Amino acid sequence: MTARTVTLLGATGSVGRSTLDLIGSAPEGAFDVVAMTANGNVEGLAEAARRFRPKFCAVADEEAGPALKSALDGTGIACGAGEGAVLDAAAMDAGWVMAAIVGAAGLKPTLEAVRRGAQVAFANKEALVCAGPLFMDAARRSGAALLPVDSEHNAIFQAFDEARRDGIRRIILTASGGPFRTASLEEMASMTPAQAVAHPTWSMGAKISVDSATMMNKGLEIIEACHLFDLPEDRIDVLVHPESIVHGLVEYADGGLLAQMGAPDMRTPIAHALAFPDRMETCVERLDLARLGTLSFFEPDPRNFPALDLARAAFRAGGCAPAVLNAANEIAVDAFLNGKIGFLDIAAAVSDALGEAERSGYSQIAPTDFEAVYAADAEGRRLASVAVAARGEQRIQA
Ligand code: NAD
Ligand code: MG
Repeated sequence: MTARTVTLLGATGSVGRSTLDLIGSAPEGAFDVVAMTANGNVEGLAEAARRFRPKFCAVADEEAGPALKSALDGTGIACGAGEGAVLDAAAMDAGWVMAAIVGAAGLKPTLEAVRRGAQVAFANKEALVCAGPLFMDAARRSGAALLPVDSEHNAIFQAFDEARRDGIRRIILTASGGPFRTASLEEMASMTPAQAVAHPTWSMGAKISVDSATMMNKGLEIIEACHLFDLPEDRIDVLVHPESIVHGLVEYADGGLLAQMGAPDMRTPIAHALAFPDRMETCVERLDLARLGTLSFFEPDPRNFPALDLARAAFRAGGCAPAVLNAANEIAVDAFLNGKIGFLDIAAAVSDALGEAERSGYSQIAPTDFEAVYAADAEGRRLASVAVAARGEQRIQA
């Protein structure tokens, strides 16, 4: 057996660490880690590097460079710092790349891996939201395989009969509903960052946890699914399923539904992508359906979770709107986590930014290349910063 060569972009995050956990418990020689990257978490990256012995490590934060160099001193592992060093890591010749940087920051390095035709395990949904058509096109040109890692998309990927697409009616993404699933709008208004990141079923990074609480995560996932499975937004439904056992479903013309199930543990979809097209052993908890007894499903509530409709509208509007939506959401989530705006202000600020981009005609311009996507991302951040400042101001006055 030859080792599968792997690179991890975002090695220190929740998805990155789960991936390393699987690699660490795989049989000796199954995987060979080529490169690993992080933003500024030198300690986490160096610790993983000492264990997994990549050829190269990179931190995106220039200022963290000297600390990484000294932490890896004597190990023989090369290191670099800055955005260019992260791109260098992505360009190294690993056959399989985990794209697990959070946010639009993952765009360039993920693109680098796609353009050189690697198998790219796609966790970084924001990159697909901002530049879905460009990514899908880049993958077609290079022959890169995009393996969905997001649990819902990984489930659908497994149940989706690509060769007989005509027989597919719709796909269904499940959503846990997040920590505020049963909260009233009044209660949601005063929720704190600590309450928002305390996810009931999944353990994830802070940004995606807040996105789950607003359900913007599901909105982003609708757009992600449109691109990955080449379907219009109205053939992608969402069902709230608090147990997070059924991850995604494909409905066929004959009325049959194919679903993929598993414990809510990202190591299962990651393992699917890591071993693809084979299967690998994991130590993930096995489902005991008899003990679970019942599984429940509900329609999402569009009034308490306006982010879902915002995302659908942005996808339908096309042009730069999805990139603006994503950028605005990143800014608004950051402002919420830093106590500058309230929980309900997140979706409101995104809506403000999208509305402004639409009024000015900016969002109608379709990005034809990645430079235009970066520009739309920057504009989304600018518009959201204005909206966040205004909402923060109102909050202080109230
Ligand atoms: P996280 O915050 O735990 O980790 C993010 C990683 O990205 C870290 O390694 C960090 O160092 C790196 N990073 C952050 N900013 C960077 C920058 N500017 N440049 C370079 N690297 C940077 O996030 P996560 O929860 O692991 O999520 C990663 C991605 O996977 C997100 O796009 C998320 O939506 C997606 N995802 C996560 C889960 C999950 O269970 N955590 C599930 C589905 C999809
Ligand atoms: Mg998901």
